[in-house]
Amino acid sequence: MENLAEDRVVASDQPGRSAGFACRFCKAPLRTTFVDLGMSPLCQTHIRVDQLHEMEAFYPLHAYVCDQCFLVQLQEFVTPDEIFTEYAYFSSYSKSWVEHARRYTELMVERFGLGPRSQVMEIASNDGYLLQHFVRRGIPVLGIEPAANVARVAVERGVPTTVRFLGRKSAIEISTEYGKADLVLGNNVLAHVPDINDFVAGMKQLLAPDGVITMEFPHLARLIAETQFDTIYHEHFSYLSFNVVERIFAHHGITLFDVEELQTHGGSLRIYGRHAECPAHAVADRVKKLRERETDEGFLTLERYREFGAQVMRVKRELLRFLIDAKEQGKRVVGYGAPGKGNTLLNYCGIRTDFLDFTVDANPYKQGKFTPGTRIPILAPDAIRDARPDYVLILPWNLKDEISQGAAYIREWGGRFVVPIPEVIVF
Ligand SMILES: [Zn+2]
Repeated sequence: MENLAEDRVVASDQPGRSAGFACRFCKAPLRTTFVDLGMSPLCQTHIRVDQLHEMEAFYPLHAYVCDQCFLVQLQEFVTPDEIFTEYAYFSSYSKSWVEHARRYTELMVERFGLGPRSQVMEIASNDGYLLQHFVRRGIPVLGIEPAANVARVAVERGVPTTVRFLGRKSAIEISTEYGKADLVLGNNVLAHVPDINDFVAGMKQLLAPDGVITMEFPHLARLIAETQFDTIYHEHFSYLSFNVVERIFAHHGITLFDVEELQTHGGSLRIYGRHAECPAHAVADRVKKLRERETDEGFLTLERYREFGAQVMRVKRELLRFLIDAKEQGKRVVGYGAPGKGNTLLNYCGIRTDFLDFTVDANPYKQGKFTPGTRIPILAPDAIRDARPDYVLILPWNLKDEISQGAAYIREWGGRFVVPIPEVIVF
């Protein structure tokens, strides 16, 4: 009988199939497709010249939504060890992101009265782009970063960093060695952890009795509203609404007492948490309002999630229509950036050197390599000046202002910028 029930559920969700894996938060079996983006390689596996004749590993990029807790998620095909121990993403390469970190530091110091006797810990502290601002103010910090190559850069700039992943076990070791933290922060890491329960339990362990947690992560409501399907990639295991995050933190004894909506990464949330039993920090109105807004928008119904796939296919057709028209008119199109989201977009849409001659990236680690799967050459940004393309397709569309200002010289020969998301815009 059980099998029959299962079959019916599967049949009602055509062309999706039972995922064969369980929700990473509540362990319910996953059955409902959020979006199926086909097969895609890992987004940070840039191809070297000597690898061009070799095959590549592709994994399904199929996101499901949990029928029970509404967590949108991907299956874990690769361990975080494989992805993050040698990481090509250095936060400091984005000027606007470093500035965002500076403003955040000011805000936290003021709001929570941090000083030389406080302890700040950042999870996935990358190259120390954020903690350096606390260091400058004489506030003790500790970075917790699994990628040894980026952690080394942080230590060189004076940001003490321990190389490890955060979980229950490592959090006990860290708090024994360094004490507990008055501020535990993690930006763009919550979505990247496969074992979200172990991770949040680790944060709880690190937190001083009256300490504060802040985390920033892309908001699922914006992903859906603006069809940001390219932010779905294998390194990004979970896609988070406020309702889901509140439920996960509450399960681990952390109350979210405030939330802000930010413009970073296409629309993010910054949440503020404390121990559930901590008497400080009353829960702000904004928490209730955002919870209710998401509920009104249907985030606690499966229908809201089921509509997304058709929306994504429309964006794909629109982008291909633009590129086909441009090529038929003999125009030259190049890319700007080789971010993770570019990998999903290019692979899902089937865009290779037939449409983009090359792309450029400010990160020297990526220059001279090729985009995963689609094998588009990645050059230094100056290559655009030499090539004088008609169109520059900005792949990290969340940085379109910074990029279009920095490369404004393309106007000299009548070049124009294009962003693919939320719809094709030429400017
Ligand atoms: Zn679930």
